[in-house]
Amino acid sequence: MTIGIELAGAYVPRYRLEPTLAQALGCPSDIPLHAPDEDALTLLWTALEQLTDHAASSGPLILRSPAGELEPRALVAYLAVAGRLTEPRSVLAMSPQTGAAGVIRAAAGHGSAIAALADQERPADLTAAPSSDCSIALRFGAPRAAEVLGVASLAVLSFDRWARMAADGPPDTRFVEETLVAGDGAELLGQLLAGARVASGQLVGVVVSAAVGIRHHRLAKQWQVPRVWSPLGVERTAGRLAGATLLAAFERLREAGPGALLAVLELGWGGDGLLLRAGPEIGTAVRTLADPPCGSYDYRRWLRAGADTPDTWTSPAKLRRETGNLLGLAARRCASCRVVTFPVNESCEGCGSTDTSAFTLARRGTVVSHNLDRLFAAPEEVQMVVVDLDGGGRFFGQLVADTSRWVVVGDRVRLALRLLHRGAGMPHYFWKVELDD
Ligand SMILES: [Zn+2]
Repeated sequence: MTIGIELAGAYVPRYRLEPTLAQALGCPSDIPLHAPDEDALTLLWTALEQLTDHAASSGPLILRSPAGELEPRALVAYLAVAGRLTEPRSVLAMSPQTGAAGVIRAAAGHGSAIAALADQERPADLTAAPSSDCSIALRFGAPRAAEVLGVASLAVLSFDRWARMAADGPPDTRFVEETLVAGDGAELLGQLLAGARVASGQLVGVVVSAAVGIRHHRLAKQWQVPRVWSPLGVERTAGRLAGATLLAAFERLREAGPGALLAVLELGWGGDGLLLRAGPEIGTAVRTLADPPCGSYDYRRWLRAGADTPDTWTSPAKLRRETGNLLGLAARRCASCRVVTFPVNESCEGCGSTDTSAFTLARRGTVVSHNLDRLFAAPEEVQMVVVDLDGGGRFFGQLVADTSRWVVVGDRVRLALRLLHRGAGMPHYFWKVELDD
Protein backbone atom coordinates (compact mmCIF):
# COMPACT_ATOMS: atom_id res chain seq x y z
CA MET A 1 0.00 0.00 0.00
CA THR A 2 1.29 3.46 -0.83
CA ILE A 3 -0.43 6.74 -0.08
CA GLY A 4 0.89 9.97 -1.54
CA ILE A 5 0.85 13.21 0.44
CA GLU A 6 0.82 16.03 -2.06
CA LEU A 7 0.75 19.06 0.22
CA ALA A 8 0.86 19.67 3.95
CA GLY A 9 0.02 22.86 5.82
CA ALA A 10 0.55 23.29 9.52
CA TYR A 11 -0.21 25.98 12.06
CA VAL A 12 1.46 26.47 15.42
CA PRO A 13 -0.51 28.98 17.51
CA ARG A 14 1.22 31.89 19.18
CA TYR A 15 0.08 31.85 22.79
CA ARG A 16 2.19 30.53 25.67
CA LEU A 17 1.86 30.20 29.46
CA GLU A 18 3.47 32.77 31.71
CA PRO A 19 6.46 31.09 33.41
CA THR A 20 4.97 31.22 36.93
CA LEU A 21 1.73 29.64 35.71
CA ALA A 22 3.64 26.98 33.76
CA GLN A 23 5.59 26.16 36.89
CA ALA A 24 2.43 25.87 38.96
CA LEU A 25 0.80 23.60 36.36
CA GLY A 26 3.97 21.53 36.05
CA CYS A 27 4.62 21.94 32.33
CA PRO A 28 7.10 23.77 30.11
CA SER A 29 6.20 27.41 29.40
CA ASP A 30 7.15 27.18 25.73
CA ILE A 31 4.36 24.88 24.54
CA PRO A 32 2.19 26.54 21.89
CA LEU A 33 -1.39 27.22 22.95
CA HIS A 34 -4.30 28.68 21.02
CA ALA A 35 -5.23 32.31 21.61
CA PRO A 36 -8.44 33.16 23.49
CA ASP A 37 -10.22 33.75 20.18
CA GLU A 38 -9.10 30.50 18.57
CA ASP A 39 -10.65 27.05 18.83
CA ALA A 40 -10.50 23.76 16.93
CA LEU A 41 -12.39 25.19 13.96
CA THR A 42 -10.21 28.27 13.54
CA LEU A 43 -7.06 26.17 13.99
CA LEU A 44 -8.27 23.86 11.21
CA TRP A 45 -9.11 26.82 9.00
CA THR A 46 -5.62 28.29 9.45
CA ALA A 47 -3.96 24.96 8.63
CA LEU A 48 -6.09 24.67 5.48
CA GLU A 49 -4.97 28.21 4.59
CA GLN A 50 -1.39 26.97 4.46
CA LEU A 51 -2.17 24.46 1.71
CA THR A 52 -0.71 26.59 -1.04
CA ASP A 53 -3.26 25.57 -3.64
CA HIS A 54 -6.92 25.96 -2.97
CA ALA A 55 -8.11 23.14 -0.76
CA ALA A 56 -10.37 21.66 -3.38
CA SER A 57 -10.63 17.96 -3.94
CA SER A 58 -13.10 15.42 -5.18
CA GLY A 59 -12.41 13.06 -2.28
CA PRO A 60 -13.73 13.11 1.26
CA LEU A 61 -12.66 15.36 4.07
CA ILE A 62 -11.10 13.30 6.84
CA LEU A 63 -11.72 15.29 9.96
CA ARG A 64 -10.08 14.61 13.28
CA SER A 65 -11.01 17.39 15.62
CA PRO A 66 -11.38 17.20 19.37
CA ALA A 67 -15.00 17.82 20.26
CA GLY A 68 -15.67 21.55 20.20
CA GLU A 69 -19.23 22.76 20.02
CA LEU A 70 -19.73 22.10 16.32
CA GLU A 71 -20.73 18.82 14.82
CA PRO A 72 -18.78 17.76 11.71
CA ARG A 73 -21.31 19.01 9.16
CA ALA A 74 -21.54 22.43 10.79
CA LEU A 75 -17.76 22.56 10.91
CA VAL A 76 -17.54 21.77 7.19
CA ALA A 77 -20.15 24.43 6.44
CA TYR A 78 -18.04 27.05 8.21
CA LEU A 79 -14.87 25.95 6.41
CA ALA A 80 -16.69 26.02 3.08
CA VAL A 81 -18.26 29.45 3.52
CA ALA A 82 -14.94 30.84 4.81
CA GLY A 83 -13.38 29.86 1.50
CA ARG A 84 -11.23 26.87 2.38
CA LEU A 85 -13.28 24.02 1.00
CA THR A 86 -15.00 24.49 -2.31
CA GLU A 87 -17.91 22.15 -2.40
CA PRO A 88 -19.93 19.84 -0.19
CA ARG A 89 -18.13 16.56 0.17
CA SER A 90 -18.43 13.45 2.25
CA VAL A 91 -16.94 13.76 5.69
CA LEU A 92 -15.11 11.00 7.49
CA ALA A 93 -15.27 12.17 11.08
CA MET A 94 -12.62 10.39 13.12
CA SER A 95 -12.72 10.03 16.87
CA PRO A 96 -10.55 12.60 18.69
CA GLN A 97 -8.60 9.60 19.99
CA THR A 98 -7.48 8.71 16.48
CA GLY A 99 -3.78 9.27 16.03
CA ALA A 100 -1.83 10.41 12.97
CA ALA A 101 -1.46 6.87 11.60
CA GLY A 102 -5.19 6.22 11.86
CA VAL A 103 -6.03 9.42 9.98
CA ILE A 104 -3.57 8.65 7.20
CA ARG A 105 -4.73 5.07 6.88
CA ALA A 106 -8.28 6.39 6.35
CA ALA A 107 -7.06 8.16 3.20
CA ALA A 108 -6.06 4.92 1.48
CA GLY A 109 -8.10 4.31 -1.64
CA HIS A 110 -9.60 7.80 -1.70
CA GLY A 111 -7.20 9.46 -4.13
CA SER A 112 -7.53 13.16 -3.54
CA ALA A 113 -8.85 13.23 0.02
CA ILE A 114 -8.04 16.07 2.39
CA ALA A 115 -7.33 15.43 6.05
CA ALA A 116 -7.54 18.12 8.70
CA LEU A 117 -6.41 17.53 12.27
CA ALA A 118 -6.47 19.85 15.24
CA ASP A 119 -4.76 19.24 18.56
CA GLN A 120 -6.81 21.37 20.86
CA GLU A 121 -8.28 20.30 24.14
CA ARG A 122 -8.10 21.76 27.61
CA PRO A 123 -7.89 19.34 30.54
CA ALA A 124 -11.22 19.46 32.39
CA ASP A 125 -9.21 20.17 35.51
CA LEU A 126 -7.75 23.64 35.09
CA THR A 127 -4.97 22.85 37.54
CA ALA A 128 -3.74 20.04 35.26
CA ALA A 129 -0.90 20.61 32.82
CA PRO A 130 -2.09 21.39 29.28
CA SER A 131 -0.62 19.79 26.20
CA SER A 132 0.48 21.71 23.11
CA ASP A 133 -1.98 22.89 20.45
CA CYS A 134 -1.47 22.83 16.71
CA SER A 135 -3.24 21.90 13.50
CA ILE A 136 -2.26 20.29 10.23
CA ALA A 137 -3.98 19.78 6.89
CA LEU A 138 -2.92 17.25 4.27
CA ARG A 139 -3.91 16.86 0.67
CA PHE A 140 -3.43 13.36 -0.65
CA GLY A 141 -2.46 12.62 -4.23
CA ALA A 142 0.94 12.59 -5.92
CA PRO A 143 3.74 12.04 -3.36
CA ARG A 144 5.24 15.52 -3.73
CA ALA A 145 5.64 16.07 0.02
CA ALA A 146 5.91 12.49 1.19
CA GLU A 147 4.95 8.93 0.49
CA VAL A 148 3.48 6.58 3.08
CA LEU A 149 5.30 3.29 2.62
CA GLY A 150 3.47 1.48 5.36
CA VAL A 151 0.99 1.71 8.21
CA ALA A 152 0.93 -0.78 11.08
CA SER A 153 -1.14 -1.26 14.21
CA LEU A 154 -0.57 -3.23 17.34
CA ALA A 155 -3.73 -3.95 19.30
CA VAL A 156 -3.27 -5.33 22.79
CA LEU A 157 -5.72 -6.83 25.23
CA SER A 158 -5.60 -4.42 28.08
CA PHE A 159 -7.62 -1.65 29.61
CA ASP A 160 -7.80 1.54 27.64
CA ARG A 161 -4.30 2.85 27.36
CA TRP A 162 -4.92 6.27 28.82
CA ALA A 163 -8.33 6.18 30.47
CA ARG A 164 -7.14 5.81 34.00
CA MET A 165 -4.14 8.03 33.82
CA ALA A 166 -3.71 10.63 36.53
CA ALA A 167 -3.23 14.25 35.51
CA ASP A 168 0.48 14.02 36.25
CA GLY A 169 0.97 10.93 34.08
CA PRO A 170 0.85 7.17 34.50
CA PRO A 171 1.64 5.71 37.92
CA ASP A 172 4.85 3.97 36.92
CA THR A 173 6.45 5.83 34.06
CA ARG A 174 9.57 3.67 33.95
CA PHE A 175 7.49 0.51 33.57
CA VAL A 176 5.58 2.13 30.74
CA GLU A 177 8.75 3.29 29.04
CA GLU A 178 10.65 0.03 29.35
CA THR A 179 7.90 -2.45 28.74
CA LEU A 180 5.34 -0.73 26.58
CA VAL A 181 7.18 1.96 24.66
CA ALA A 182 10.41 0.04 24.09
CA GLY A 183 8.82 -3.40 23.60
CA ASP A 184 5.70 -2.47 21.62
CA GLY A 185 7.75 0.10 19.69
CA ALA A 186 10.28 -2.52 18.62
CA GLU A 187 7.49 -4.81 17.45
CA LEU A 188 5.68 -2.11 15.48
CA LEU A 189 8.89 -0.79 13.97
CA GLY A 190 9.82 -4.33 12.96
CA GLN A 191 6.46 -4.75 11.18
CA LEU A 192 6.84 -1.46 9.32
CA LEU A 193 10.41 -2.12 8.22
CA ALA A 194 9.75 -5.70 7.18
CA GLY A 195 6.68 -4.67 5.17
CA ALA A 196 8.67 -2.14 3.16
CA ARG A 197 11.95 -4.12 3.09
CA VAL A 198 13.82 -1.31 4.78
CA ALA A 199 16.63 -1.77 7.33
CA SER A 200 16.50 0.20 10.57
CA GLY A 201 19.83 1.86 9.77
CA GLN A 202 18.35 3.39 6.61
CA LEU A 203 15.96 5.56 8.63
CA VAL A 204 16.92 9.10 9.59
CA GLY A 205 15.08 8.39 12.82
CA VAL A 206 11.81 7.71 14.58
CA VAL A 207 9.29 10.23 15.91
CA VAL A 208 7.65 8.80 19.02
CA SER A 209 4.49 10.06 20.65
CA ALA A 210 4.00 8.35 24.00
CA ALA A 211 2.15 8.77 27.26
CA VAL A 212 5.38 9.17 29.19
CA GLY A 213 8.59 11.09 28.84
CA ILE A 214 11.15 8.90 27.09
CA ARG A 215 14.94 8.67 27.06
CA HIS A 216 15.65 9.22 23.39
CA HIS A 217 19.24 7.93 23.21
CA ARG A 218 18.31 4.78 25.02
CA LEU A 219 15.47 3.98 22.65
CA ALA A 220 17.57 4.82 19.59
CA LYS A 221 20.19 2.34 20.75
CA GLN A 222 17.61 -0.32 21.55
CA TRP A 223 15.88 0.03 18.17
CA GLN A 224 19.18 0.48 16.29
CA VAL A 225 18.09 3.70 14.61
CA PRO A 226 20.16 6.91 14.30
CA ARG A 227 17.78 9.21 16.19
CA VAL A 228 14.57 9.26 18.21
CA TRP A 229 12.52 12.45 18.59
CA SER A 230 9.32 13.42 20.39
CA PRO A 231 6.74 15.98 19.35
CA LEU A 232 6.41 18.87 21.75
CA GLY A 233 4.46 17.82 24.85
CA VAL A 234 3.43 14.49 26.28
CA GLU A 235 0.43 12.64 24.91
CA ARG A 236 -1.87 12.41 27.91
CA THR A 237 -4.87 11.12 26.03
CA ALA A 238 -4.78 8.90 22.98
CA GLY A 239 -4.49 10.84 19.75
CA ARG A 240 -3.97 14.11 21.59
CA LEU A 241 -0.79 14.96 19.71
CA ALA A 242 -1.66 13.63 16.26
CA GLY A 243 -1.05 17.02 14.64
CA ALA A 244 2.15 17.74 16.56
CA THR A 245 3.43 14.24 15.76
CA LEU A 246 2.89 14.69 12.02
CA LEU A 247 4.39 18.16 12.16
CA ALA A 248 7.53 16.83 13.91
CA ALA A 249 7.79 14.07 11.28
CA PHE A 250 7.52 16.51 8.37
CA GLU A 251 10.04 18.88 9.90
CA ARG A 252 12.59 16.09 10.34
CA LEU A 253 11.96 14.90 6.77
CA ARG A 254 12.34 18.43 5.44
CA GLU A 255 15.70 18.75 7.20
CA ALA A 256 16.85 15.40 5.82
CA GLY A 257 15.70 16.15 2.27
CA PRO A 258 14.05 14.15 -0.55
CA GLY A 259 14.23 10.39 -0.25
CA ALA A 260 14.77 10.36 3.53
CA LEU A 261 12.98 7.59 5.43
CA LEU A 262 11.38 8.10 8.82
CA ALA A 263 9.07 6.12 11.09
CA VAL A 264 6.34 7.51 13.32
CA LEU A 265 5.25 5.52 16.38
CA GLU A 266 2.27 6.42 18.58
CA LEU A 267 2.63 4.23 21.61
CA GLY A 268 0.87 3.42 24.85
CA TRP A 269 -0.86 0.12 25.38
CA GLY A 270 -0.29 -1.11 21.87
CA GLY A 271 0.07 1.56 19.23
CA ASP A 272 0.11 2.65 15.62
CA GLY A 273 2.99 3.34 13.26
CA LEU A 274 3.76 4.95 9.92
CA LEU A 275 6.71 4.67 7.58
CA LEU A 276 7.26 7.83 5.52
CA ARG A 277 9.59 8.72 2.67
CA ALA A 278 10.24 12.39 1.90
CA GLY A 279 8.98 13.36 -1.55
CA PRO A 280 10.93 15.33 -4.18
CA GLU A 281 9.29 18.62 -3.13
CA ILE A 282 9.42 18.15 0.64
CA GLY A 283 11.10 21.56 0.94
CA THR A 284 8.21 23.50 -0.60
CA ALA A 285 5.18 21.21 -0.37
CA VAL A 286 5.17 21.36 3.43
CA ARG A 287 4.30 24.80 4.72
CA THR A 288 4.18 25.75 8.39
CA LEU A 289 2.86 28.96 9.87
CA ALA A 290 4.71 29.33 13.15
CA ASP A 291 5.27 32.99 13.91
CA PRO A 292 7.07 34.04 17.10
CA PRO A 293 5.00 33.81 20.30
CA CYS A 294 2.81 36.83 21.02
CA GLY A 295 0.48 36.63 23.96
CA SER A 296 0.59 34.60 27.12
CA TYR A 297 -1.87 33.31 29.66
CA ASP A 298 -1.60 34.40 33.26
CA TYR A 299 -3.77 32.90 36.02
CA ARG A 300 -6.69 35.19 35.38
CA ARG A 301 -6.84 34.64 31.62
CA TRP A 302 -6.17 30.91 31.97
CA LEU A 303 -9.12 30.42 34.30
CA ARG A 304 -11.33 32.43 32.02
CA ALA A 305 -10.17 30.47 28.95
CA GLY A 306 -11.52 27.28 30.49
CA ALA A 307 -14.83 28.73 31.55
CA ASP A 308 -17.88 28.85 29.36
CA THR A 309 -19.24 32.35 29.49
CA PRO A 310 -22.92 32.15 28.60
CA ASP A 311 -24.32 34.92 26.46
CA THR A 312 -27.93 35.10 25.53
CA TRP A 313 -27.83 37.31 22.48
CA THR A 314 -26.73 34.85 19.82
CA SER A 315 -29.75 34.17 17.68
CA PRO A 316 -29.73 30.86 15.76
CA ALA A 317 -32.07 32.38 13.19
CA LYS A 318 -29.79 35.35 12.66
CA LEU A 319 -26.73 33.10 12.45
CA ARG A 320 -28.38 31.02 9.74
CA ARG A 321 -29.68 34.02 7.81
CA GLU A 322 -26.62 36.25 7.90
CA THR A 323 -23.51 34.20 8.56
CA GLY A 324 -23.22 32.79 5.05
CA ASN A 325 -22.94 36.24 3.45
CA LEU A 326 -20.73 37.66 6.20
CA LEU A 327 -18.25 34.78 6.37
CA GLY A 328 -18.47 34.33 2.63
CA LEU A 329 -17.45 38.00 2.33
CA ALA A 330 -20.31 38.50 -0.12
CA ALA A 331 -20.73 42.12 -1.23
CA ARG A 332 -22.48 44.06 -4.02
CA ARG A 333 -20.77 46.36 -6.51
CA CYS A 334 -22.55 49.27 -8.10
CA ALA A 335 -22.77 49.33 -11.90
CA SER A 336 -22.70 53.13 -12.11
CA CYS A 337 -20.27 54.36 -9.40
CA ARG A 338 -18.38 51.04 -8.77
CA VAL A 339 -18.65 51.44 -4.97
CA VAL A 340 -18.62 48.09 -3.16
CA THR A 341 -21.22 47.68 -0.41
CA PHE A 342 -20.62 45.26 2.47
CA PRO A 343 -22.52 43.81 4.24
CA VAL A 344 -24.86 43.15 1.33
CA ASN A 345 -27.51 45.82 0.85
CA GLU A 346 -30.14 46.19 -1.88
CA SER A 347 -28.95 49.68 -2.79
CA CYS A 348 -25.50 51.19 -3.36
CA GLU A 349 -23.86 52.93 -0.40
CA GLY A 350 -22.30 55.49 -2.77
CA CYS A 351 -25.16 56.67 -4.97
CA GLY A 352 -28.27 54.79 -3.94
CA SER A 353 -28.58 52.95 -7.24
CA THR A 354 -30.14 49.49 -7.13
CA ASP A 355 -28.21 48.35 -10.19
CA THR A 356 -25.64 46.24 -8.34
CA SER A 357 -24.05 42.83 -8.89
CA ALA A 358 -22.48 40.19 -6.66
CA PHE A 359 -18.88 40.83 -5.65
CA THR A 360 -16.57 38.77 -3.44
CA LEU A 361 -14.28 40.78 -1.17
CA ALA A 362 -10.53 40.25 -1.08
CA ARG A 363 -9.06 39.04 2.20
CA ARG A 364 -6.21 41.55 2.28
CA GLY A 365 -6.24 45.30 2.59
CA THR A 366 -4.95 48.48 4.23
CA VAL A 367 -5.93 50.03 7.56
CA VAL A 368 -7.72 53.36 7.19
CA SER A 369 -8.91 53.91 10.76
CA HIS A 370 -8.94 52.29 14.18
CA ASN A 371 -9.67 52.85 17.85
CA LEU A 372 -9.26 51.04 21.14
CA ASP A 373 -12.44 49.89 22.86
CA ARG A 374 -12.38 49.66 26.62
CA LEU A 375 -15.89 48.43 27.21
CA PHE A 376 -16.99 47.42 30.67
CA ALA A 377 -18.30 44.00 29.68
CA ALA A 378 -15.32 43.07 27.51
CA PRO A 379 -12.59 41.20 29.37
CA GLU A 380 -9.79 43.05 27.62
CA GLU A 381 -9.34 46.11 25.50
CA VAL A 382 -10.03 45.44 21.86
CA GLN A 383 -8.81 47.32 18.84
CA MET A 384 -11.53 47.96 16.29
CA VAL A 385 -10.16 48.41 12.78
CA VAL A 386 -11.50 49.76 9.50
CA VAL A 387 -9.83 48.23 6.46
CA ASP A 388 -10.07 49.19 2.80
CA LEU A 389 -9.89 45.82 1.10
CA ASP A 390 -7.87 45.33 -2.08
CA GLY A 391 -10.19 45.65 -5.05
CA GLY A 392 -12.88 47.53 -3.15
CA GLY A 393 -15.07 47.24 -0.11
CA ARG A 394 -14.63 48.34 3.47
CA PHE A 395 -14.37 45.96 6.41
CA PHE A 396 -14.95 46.87 10.04
CA GLY A 397 -13.97 44.44 12.77
CA GLN A 398 -11.72 43.48 15.68
CA LEU A 399 -8.00 42.89 15.69
CA VAL A 400 -7.08 39.25 16.50
CA ALA A 401 -6.17 38.42 20.10
CA ASP A 402 -2.60 37.35 19.44
CA THR A 403 -0.87 40.30 17.91
CA SER A 404 2.57 41.78 18.40
CA ARG A 405 1.24 45.37 18.39
CA TRP A 406 -1.81 47.50 17.70
CA VAL A 407 -2.27 48.39 14.05
CA VAL A 408 -1.76 51.92 12.68
CA VAL A 409 -3.17 53.64 9.61
CA GLY A 410 -1.50 52.32 6.47
CA ASP A 411 -0.68 48.85 7.86
CA ARG A 412 -1.17 45.95 5.49
CA VAL A 413 -3.53 43.44 7.05
CA ARG A 414 -5.35 40.22 6.20
CA LEU A 415 -8.58 38.70 7.43
CA ALA A 416 -8.45 35.63 9.67
CA LEU A 417 -11.33 33.46 10.84
CA ARG A 418 -11.60 33.71 14.61
CA LEU A 419 -14.01 33.07 17.45
CA LEU A 420 -16.06 36.16 18.21
CA HIS A 421 -17.93 34.89 21.23
CA ARG A 422 -19.98 31.98 22.45
CA GLY A 423 -23.66 32.45 22.97
CA ALA A 424 -26.63 30.22 23.65
CA GLY A 425 -24.31 27.22 23.53
CA MET A 426 -22.97 28.07 20.09
CA PRO A 427 -19.64 29.46 18.97
CA HIS A 428 -19.96 32.53 16.77
CA TYR A 429 -17.17 33.05 14.23
CA PHE A 430 -16.26 36.11 12.26
CA TRP A 431 -13.38 37.60 10.36
CA LYS A 432 -10.84 39.50 12.40
CA VAL A 433 -7.97 41.65 11.25
CA GLU A 434 -4.41 40.36 11.45
CA LEU A 435 -1.14 42.10 10.61
CA ASP A 436 0.18 40.88 7.26
CA ASP A 437 3.92 41.07 7.70
ZN1 LIG B 1 -23.27 53.54 -6.72
